Amino acid sequence: MERKTLCIATRNKHKVEEMAPVLTPFWEVKSSADYPEVEEIEETGDTFLANATLKAVRTSQFISDYVLADDSGLEADALNGAPGVFSARYGGIPSSTEKNNAKLLQELTRVNAMTAQQRAARYRCVLVLAKEGEVLATFEGVCEGTIGVAPKGTHGFGYDPLFVPQGYARTFGQLTDKTKNTLSHRGLALKKFVAWCKENPLG
Ligand code: IMP
Repeated sequence: MERKTLCIATRNKHKVEEMAPVLTPFWEVKSSADYPEVEEIEETGDTFLANATLKAVRTSQFISDYVLADDSGLEADALNGAPGVFSARYGGIPSSTEKNNAKLLQELTRVNAMTAQQRAARYRCVLVLAKEGEVLATFEGVCEGTIGVAPKGTHGFGYDPLFVPQGYARTFGQLTDKTKNTLSHRGLALKKFVAWCKENPLG
């Protein structure tokens, strides 16, 4: 059967690297970078669902292929859910992983969250599938864990060197990409997406 094309609506190459291996058995995978006609989309929503919907719907108005948008981030309990939807730019603009991670550690120290329990956090990912400006389905994945006291490891991206998934003693930065994919918010949401596609063959 001919594979349909799916555009992952992101310019974040790390997200594409994580998502493509799961999707390529079923889809011809592209990303926003492959479509010059797709304009930069500002994330103005105040939830992951709002932002993922914005990216999926808007991108699918520029192109005719199916679109899958990911909006994701980290929620720390001691910071009332911050950085949340501001995860990508938590340390300020211009954004950088180093500034984001430094701010996260600083803020946890500021509120005196020092034990693993006080440093409880989760990654959340919302995926939205759209075509021609219409949302077809949404999927969510959550990965519980804790925030370490210093970055460890070089795998993954973003907050991964600080994030220790529940049941593990090492950060996502120290675990293999394969292990991260089986546990992660994005991996879990993608699994739901793949299952949904099997139940709902697309025309
Ligand atoms: P988005 O592109 O607006 O969805 O921003 C996602 C941001 O959340 C990233 O830039 C990271 O800071 C953070 N984030 C989301 N998922 C991950 C992950 O799997 N590992 C590390 N950081 C992540």
